[in-house]
Amino acid sequence: MSVSSPARYVGGEVNSVMKTLTPGMVRFAMCFPDVYEIGMSHLGIQILYDMFNRYDDVWCERVYSPWLDLDKIMREKKIPLFALESQEPVKNFDFLGITLQYEMCYTNVLQVLDLSGIPLLAKDRTEEDPIVIGGGPCSYNPEPIAEFFDLFYIGEGETAYRKLLDVYKEVKEKGGSRQEFLLRAAREVPGMYVPSLYEVSYKEDGTIASFVPTKEGVPAKITKEIVMDLDNAPYPEKPVVPFIRATQDRVVLEIQRGCIRGCRFCQAGQLYRPVREKSLETLKHYATTMLDSTGQEEISLSSLSSSDYSHLEELVDFLMTTCQEKKVNISLPSLRIDAFSLDVMGKVQDVKKSSLTFAPEAGSQRLRNVINKGLTEEVILKGAGLAFEGGWSRVKLYFMLGLPFETEEDIRGIAELSNKIAALYYEVVPKEKRNGPVQIVSSTSFFIPKPFTPFQWAPMCTKEQFLDKAALTKQAVREQLNQKRIK
Ligand code: SF4
Repeated sequence: MSVSSPARYVGGEVNSVMKTLTPGMVRFAMCFPDVYEIGMSHLGIQILYDMFNRYDDVWCERVYSPWLDLDKIMREKKIPLFALESQEPVKNFDFLGITLQYEMCYTNVLQVLDLSGIPLLAKDRTEEDPIVIGGGPCSYNPEPIAEFFDLFYIGEGETAYRKLLDVYKEVKEKGGSRQEFLLRAAREVPGMYVPSLYEVSYKEDGTIASFVPTKEGVPAKITKEIVMDLDNAPYPEKPVVPFIRATQDRVVLEIQRGCIRGCRFCQAGQLYRPVREKSLETLKHYATTMLDSTGQEEISLSSLSSSDYSHLEELVDFLMTTCQEKKVNISLPSLRIDAFSLDVMGKVQDVKKSSLTFAPEAGSQRLRNVINKGLTEEVILKGAGLAFEGGWSRVKLYFMLGLPFETEEDIRGIAELSNKIAALYYEVVPKEKRNGPVQIVSSTSFFIPKPFTPFQWAPMCTKEQFLDKAALTKQAVREQLNQKRIK
């Protein structure tokens, strides 16, 4: 029997952390419930892994969802799920922390628990089992999965974990039970939600009717934890370098958290409020240190909307000098397309001008107003025009189908806007200067209502409705003059 990509499971990567176990050391298994290449691309795990391992009394290891081939072998041979660093069963750890980034990974959470030999339901777990703790954006709306978790950490992980670990150590030293620990965590550590300490009743439509703590001192309302001073928050100087190509195989420099815009469908825009920037000095330090400690050949700026970072110009200037010396590429996602961004992108994409991306999200101005996407057709066409004049000939457009209040007209608008941009290329670029034919790639994903957004109670389309909308989009593209240039 063989498994594909065994490097997913062996650990030992550059900058991964090995420790010698000492009495009282807390063992934390940090799980991204998806395959290694995706999990290793996640910044939040790198931040927490680094933060935990700076504590002398904690050893944090990583665990990912095994691919189907290894899953099958593990079940046949009764091999329990193990952490990458020590290769020891997750079941022996004090904590299993699972980051919940998207709802589609919920079945993987069950796979991880099942393969680890940990009872799926929190109520069936004993003193021998790790405390299963959920975090990440989906934990802001924990109720649908509450039965599977002992504890949820609501908010940004940098703030309350040290306190939680101290409470755990105190309870353990006194020989206390897991229930005692959970009660103290709920009472003493901000941002903790222990489902077993609440009675939740539901209305007929599935929404919550009441949510009442069952023990004294347990908060009736849990407030999300946020880091206000990002400059002094932990950030990895030595991120782990995967052995095999990860989905995001580069150094990631988080420049700010939060977004100043308020698109009504966007969960990240709501959850990560308020906007917090890192200083230029901090970013220069981390950029240099991380490139030196990893040997990576690319650095990417991470934020929800990089154009809104107030020192972007100075940062890009610094990176261009540093990266030229080190022969490192710079990647700048999430930029608004304006003259400054195009200038910067022109410099960093010096060899071949790859495609530019706009995210109008909706085809008509009416629907863009409904979703509060502050991007007008005028701005899109102006940006595209500047890009075409600057030598780009490929544009990617992102849209959503099934948004609230969408009509057929809005769907047709997707094709019409794509067509207008294609036509613009031939208007602004003279024949002799054209870099081949223009190519517009318009992609549509389906709207999913997300908790804590203004659209949280909007209905989601059925599969059939979505497929009809997709068919209408394609049909509308075929009716356009420049249909051959639109994919
Ligand atoms: S979609 Fe982008 S710009 Fe809009 S709120 Fe979300 S992160 Fe911000």
